[in-house]
Amino acid sequence: MYQHSILKTLCKEEDLILRDLARDFVNQEIMPVRQQIDDDEHHEIVTHVLQGLANLGFIKAIFPEKYGGSDIRSAVTMGLPLEEVARGDSGIAVALACTLWPFIPVVWWAHNQAVLDHFGPVFCGDDLKIGCFNMTEPGGSAGGGGCDIENPGMEGRKIRTVAKLDGNDWVLNGQKIWASNSGVADAYLMVCTTDPKLGDEGIALIYVPGDAKGLSFGKFERKAGMAADRNTTTYLENVRVPKEFRLSGPGEDAGLFHANLAVGRLASAAMSVGNAQGAFEAVLDFTGDRVVGKAAKAIRNHSVATCMLADMAIGIETARMTCLSGSYRFDHPDEYGAVHSLEQLSYASMAKVYAADMAVMVTNRGMELMGSYGYVRECNIEKYWRDCKIIQLWEGGAQLGRFDVCRPFWDLPL
Ligand SMILES: Cc1cc2nc3c(=O)[nH]c(=O)nc-3n(C[C@H](O)[C@H](O)[C@H](O)COP(=O)(O)OP(=O)(O)OC[C@H]3O[C@@H](n4cnc5c(N)ncnc54)[C@H](O)[C@@H]3O)c2cc1C
Repeated sequence: MYQHSILKTLCKEEDLILRDLARDFVNQEIMPVRQQIDDDEHHEIVTHVLQGLANLGFIKAIFPEKYGGSDIRSAVTMGLPLEEVARGDSGIAVALACTLWPFIPVVWWAHNQAVLDHFGPVFCGDDLKIGCFNMTEPGGSAGGGGCDIENPGMEGRKIRTVAKLDGNDWVLNGQKIWASNSGVADAYLMVCTTDPKLGDEGIALIYVPGDAKGLSFGKFERKAGMAADRNTTTYLENVRVPKEFRLSGPGEDAGLFHANLAVGRLASAAMSVGNAQGAFEAVLDFTGDRVVGKAAKAIRNHSVATCMLADMAIGIETARMTCLSGSYRFDHPDEYGAVHSLEQLSYASMAKVYAADMAVMVTNRGMELMGSYGYVRECNIEKYWRDCKIIQLWEGGAQLGRFDVCRPFWDLPL
């Protein structure tokens, strides 16, 4: 089930080379250790694997050549290897994707020289560096937090992490929760406001080095899955950074924020497809080997199982194509709308919502087909099931994601 021959027509040759590089790495370096990742308390395995991906150039990939990067500016190109990494381990894919996530807006669109000169050489160096896009905040009795931060209809009015200009510095105060790679990152992109009353004009995206004074963290969250990704509360107490570390400026930062949400949704779709593909391969193997029933046939040759496997294959392929078409649109804003437009967010959300639901369905049905074996670690599917559920829930959850699909087409009071 690894034909994908249509990709030869839809993608550039370089895209497929990168995809194959990631695929070989996954088969050799991730598959043999994926069952140990849940017990890798000190992240020794995870760090080793991420360093391997950095050595192959997947972290510096998006940075300009002048810093040692490969100048890749394409959601299609980055989505294919991400799908592969998620086939091996979705948590590793998240740690990788969220290292690039904070830098996409500065490298692809804002070209802020001070930020690029500060972080570019470090992230293109030989040592593994980690990034974090820190947007989510806790809610309060008056609402806010969670989805209200990223809901375009809220226009940044619920953001409570405040950035004030003091001389040549931004001074940041506030609290963030959940962000992937928080507590272990070398660079953070903080979603702030200069004044919530200003709405979108107040949104300020500000880069903060991981060792900045005034930055502190809580305990790592204990989660159902995604063990390779770390999440904690980030506290900002009078954190000072140079005023040049603001991504762009009033109004522009809001647009870049929305564009980066679309990037996150496309990446979430690619990871969901990879996760489901990995689970599907495990189920195909198992149901091909295990023989049941009067006729003593392999499970997958019983018609009820064949039809379930067909639905799984249809879901994976449909999600892969929806992800690819959303990514292609995003790579061609002249034809399909500006990267920060509600139309782009709509198609990216369509891909994320569909692919995440599909991965939950595939891993769930896969476990049914494997019976009790599906529930134990050795049989390689329950981890896919535990890992993929959060993709449905993060970045807008299942509901806000659906609203964002509809948002460009009619006025939503949401
Ligand atoms: C493992 C993990 C990784 C994460 N990574 C990151 C990261 O890298 N960066 C980051 O900033 N955050 C991250 N998050 C946080 C995550 O993106 C948010 O938790 C998520 O977007 C939603 O916020 P919430 O959970 O508070 O949900 P809530 O805002 O409380 O929403 C709960 C439910 O209400 C629905 N809802 C929301 N708004 C509306 C509305 N207007 N009308 C009707 N229904 C609505 C939602 O869809 C959802 O179903 C991560 C979380 C986890 C667990």
